[in-house]
Amino acid sequence: MSDPFGLTAEYIEKMRKFAKCTQPDIDIPDFEVVSTGNPALRGYTYPYPYLVPRLSDIYMKELSPSEQFDLYGTIVHESVHYNFPWYQRGSSEYLNKVHRNNNEMVRKRTQPWERKIKSGDTKCPEPPPPPQCP
Ligand SMILES: [Zn+2]
Repeated sequence: MSDPFGLTAEYIEKMRKFAKCTQPDIDIPDFEVVSTGNPALRGYTYPYPYLVPRLSDIYMKELSPSEQFDLYGTIVHESVHYNFPWYQRGSSEYLNKVHRNNNEMVRKRTQPWERKIKSGDTKCPEPPPPPQCP
């Protein structure tokens, strides 16, 4: 992961870890941090199999809990893109459809964790206990 300004990637790593334990059914990829030149563009995923998704360097600083939740949403959003086959990621028709679905999917995926993250608790939730043998 590039760190062009020598700032911390601590929050990105923390939210990637949190995404891995709260979204176990999708692959959470590695990200490269870049300057997107547009504060509204927080991440993107290339339609090529050999390029890792990108995250905006707006996250390379100390983040408040609600900024951490925003980062979590971006990570989950790009991860949902990334979990589609690369050869489906290119066309604008497909992107529009995916974006509509992705945003719904992302809301459903992130909402259950909003309160926890915004309260400052980003520890992975305890896994459910194993079933007890009688
Ligand atoms: Zn997107």
